[in-house]
Amino acid sequence: MDENKIKKGGISVETAHIFPIIKKWLYSEKDIFLREIVSNATDAVTKLCRLSSLGQYDGGDEKYAVKVVLDKDAKTLTVSDNGIGMTEEELEKYICSIALSGALDFIQKYDENNQNNGIIGHFGLGFYSSFMVSDTVELITRSFNGDKALHWVCNGAGEYEINVAERNEHGTDVIMHISDEESAYLDENKIKEILEKYCSFMSVDIYFEVADDETDDSGEAPKPINETSPLWLKNASECTEEEYAEFYKKVFRDYREPLFHIHINADYPLNFKGVLYFPARINEYESYEGQVKLFYNQVFVADDIKEVIPDFLLMLKGVLDCPELPLNVSRSYLQDNAYIKKVSSHIVKKVADKICSLCNVDREKYEKIWKELKIFFEYASLRDKKFYDRVKSAYLLELTDGTYMTVDEYLKCCEETHKGKVYYTNDKALQAQYISMFESEGVKIAVLEHQLDTQFISMCEMNDSEIKYARIDSDVVDMLKGDGASTDNEALISLFKKSVGNDKLEVKLEALKDESVPALITLSEESRRMEEMMKMYASMGINMGGDFPVDYTLVLNSNSPLMAKLETVNQTDSEKAKLMALEIYRLALMSQKRMSADELKAFLADSFRLLGML
Ligand code: ADP
Repeated sequence: MDENKIKKGGISVETAHIFPIIKKWLYSEKDIFLREIVSNATDAVTKLCRLSSLGQYDGGDEKYAVKVVLDKDAKTLTVSDNGIGMTEEELEKYICSIALSGALDFIQKYDENNQNNGIIGHFGLGFYSSFMVSDTVELITRSFNGDKALHWVCNGAGEYEINVAERNEHGTDVIMHISDEESAYLDENKIKEILEKYCSFMSVDIYFEVADDETDDSGEAPKPINETSPLWLKNASECTEEEYAEFYKKVFRDYREPLFHIHINADYPLNFKGVLYFPARINEYESYEGQVKLFYNQVFVADDIKEVIPDFLLMLKGVLDCPELPLNVSRSYLQDNAYIKKVSSHIVKKVADKICSLCNVDREKYEKIWKELKIFFEYASLRDKKFYDRVKSAYLLELTDGTYMTVDEYLKCCEETHKGKVYYTNDKALQAQYISMFESEGVKIAVLEHQLDTQFISMCEMNDSEIKYARIDSDVVDMLKGDGASTDNEALISLFKKSVGNDKLEVKLEALKDESVPALITLSEESRRMEEMMKMYASMGINMGGDFPVDYTLVLNSNSPLMAKLETVNQTDSEKAKLMALEIYRLALMSQKRMSADELKAFLADSFRLLGML
């Protein structure tokens, strides 16, 4: 072999550098050696299939497969394929000359301090990752073109030999002699686990066998460990709901049905495919822990690719297949990558489109999942204005009667009574009285009970000045007012101020339709929201400084018979009138907040005193 010179030269200079580096640097991700070797095998099969489809090879009805065989006695792990194989020239070029192909660059670029794990693959070192776990690697290969088979063997110091070998069929066997330190790779469960993680969706059937395994005498035909045409490669129109659910349950080991899925098939220039799922939660306290698996042409690459998915979508589960990315992506590569940014915004757009289409096309289902979707919807909208703009028409208001309306539907239906305003309650129990007053006027009330709701509606108002949200206790609106002008009644107003012991208390009289309500408290929407924001900041340990006085008003109902009575009592028994006024004030306050223990004690004592006066 006259190429001996080149071989020796190349090897002697560089393998001495390369081998220790392969062993040392790739330490934390050793498992991927198997992915590299198996994916080379599937590539070899794919190449042969391509030649066959081009009419350059006729394999008849050959069954293509990759076989992984673990031989514990021989301490070997062998990956065999019946793919394209290699000629002597190819063996020299692709396997022997790794060192020639940019090895020095490699060494210079990845010096001792650089802990980058994403080097395999960038430098065509995939095959050599087998040395992370092996002392010696043998390769037996025969090209599809009918050349004689070759045997290549290389030790851990990088010294190799090539001889003629026996192999009847085209294809390649890679025989890895597992080193003593790495004997963990002689455990079949470990190998199964790695194959399952990295090779579950590779494009050629992969079989796993344990040599001389006496436990497997079932006589059944062995089954491949992988699914060669995964769901994400199909057209959405070809997949059924059951298939999506089954895929989800299998891949994510979640027994629950996901809420919905998004099938992405992005063409040039993005060119990626994937299926994303919105997982269900048992309750609102369960945290969302999504998981998006990144694939490269059906080869698993990484699990938690925060860089590809914006963080407000991190609860999604799913798979993305991006053949545009190198197989061994590093985090830093992903972080500032323009392509990844485009992929990420495409995903955001697809999620938003799906939400809108559910709302428009499958409203029944959408309403069913709304409760679970809502927090995410609000959070994502707060995080990303573009997302909000896309989905805002699909925001649902849950009404006090349990039905749902979009904001547009609500505003349309209330155009006559309260144009541009959405009335809401944040506590159906506490605000029951206000609710019944509004409902008796036929007004629909949205329920916005979550802390995030306030932030969300403030943002909606900021973005759309036509819409205002008002809590039902924020003002006495005209429609609640009945006949009879509200009169100033200084005596009554000062009686309340005195009884409550607060001279600055805002008290006013209104003639309300509902005579059974003697008094209510209103709280201006702006100052209440300000207070809520302060509280939220305080709970996060941020002190905005200063107390924001809550600006509430005691509204006395001049139409209430109780007020008339109070006025009369006030003229004869001021002590009793004071107690009555205090009682009315406290009852009105009950719709605003729960009493503290001391307040409740005083309230009860005064109530009994008042009853004693009957
Ligand atoms: P990469 O796969 O990134 O090109 P590798 O070091 O893994 O780098 O492999 C180098 C080359 O060796 C491959 O591109 C291929 O041409 C050849 N090769 C490796 N494994 C096989 C195989 N099982 N069958 C045929 N050719 C192979």
